[in-house]
Order: sequence, then C-alpha cells, then structure tokens
Amino acid sequence: MGKPARNLKNIVSLSKPELKEPVSFRSNIGISEENLALLHEKGKQYGLESILPFRVNNIAVAQWVNLKCRYGCSQYKANWSCPPATPDLNEVRIILSEYSTALLLVGTQNRNDFYKDSNRNRTDQVKYWKGIVSLERMLFLKGYDKAISLVSGACSLCKKCAYPDACRFPQEKRPTVESFCIDLIGTLKNLDITTRVAMELNETFKYYSIILLD
Ligand code: SF4
Repeated sequence: MGKPARNLKNIVSLSKPELKEPVSFRSNIGISEENLALLHEKGKQYGLESILPFRVNNIAVAQWVNLKCRYGCSQYKANWSCPPATPDLNEVRIILSEYSTALLLVGTQNRNDFYKDSNRNRTDQVKYWKGIVSLERMLFLKGYDKAISLVSGACSLCKKCAYPDACRFPQEKRPTVESFCIDLIGTLKNLDITTRVAMELNETFKYYSIILLD
C-alpha cells in the first residue's frame, strides 16, 4: 500500500465537531487531543505511524470480501480471528450500526521478506497484534467501554492456531479487519485516503487496523 493522501475530509474533527447529527461518544464528546496524543505515543512503540478518528458510516462492507477469505487464504477455517469463526455479514452490519466513531490505525513496514513464514515476521506480527489490543485496553480504561479492535492480518500469537480447539489466549483474540467483511480499499476511498498495492518487494507498504470506538 502507498502513502495516504493528506486530504482527509471525512475524518472526524476532534476539537470542533461539525457534524449535523450528534456523535454519541460514551465518555465525552469526541476523543480529546490529549487522549489521541497518548495513543500516538503508545502506538509508536508498536510501529504505528498514524491514528485517525473517523465516522463508522464510512466503513464499506461487502459479501465478496468473505469470498477472498474462503478462497485463496490459508487462514480460513484455521484461525479463530478469521472466518468462519468470526461474525457473518448480517451480524457485522448490526454491530457497525451500534457504533458511530472508529479509529484507523496505520502502520508501515519496509521488509522484503514480509511474505515469508519466518520467526522474525511472526515476532513483528505478535508485537503489532498486542499493540493494537493494548491500545484498545487503554481506551477502555479511558471510558470507551465499547472499544473493540479489528486487527490487520490473522492472529499469530500461537505458532499454529489451536482452531477448532479452544483459543489459548482468548483475552487477546480479536477478529481481523477482513473477517468483518470490511472492504478496506473502499473504506479508505470513502475517507479520501489514496493507497496502492506495493509492486516491488523493497517498497514500503502499509497495514491498517480499526478500533470501533464510540
Ligand atoms: S491466540 Fe492462538 S489459538 Fe487464539 S486465535 Fe490467536 S493463534 Fe489462535
């Protein structure tokens, strides 16, 4: 993925919300600059380069995303963070209707061996996964009791997922973005974020997670 564009017109304005309909945060109105700065600071430790609040109605969902999980991905029916263990499209639509605001968490990697199944890759994935979940916990402690993460990439906390046996670390278990039938490119387009597929192994690429907030 390439660099996001600067023009982020659908991103929620934090200091002065200018939305016609109210944003129903549970703990306060919007996420404060202070809390966002804290998230940024903590996120940097896990390789995140930016965290952008946005309105949930910009999230595009579609059944075809599930097809990509079912056909062409080794994690289907093999990981608790992936389909069919995760909510189906109907359930996802209901869940999303219960939220108004979310955070987009953008990380960057520049490694030409990212596609290999190596210990080094897994170490990075585990660090990233734990980072997103720890940011979610931090938000919970700040009063965002509905906060829940949708993480980029399948859960790699175990070398081999225990699926279909019980998850070994259920407190850390989260669905992936794609398992939620989220059309990530469509969602980024809705947010006026331009992105592109990295064509060369040595190109920097981006990965995107979401925390449903409110
Ligand atoms: S923690 Fe382990 S068992 Fe649970 S979803 Fe992740 S990889 Fe699978």
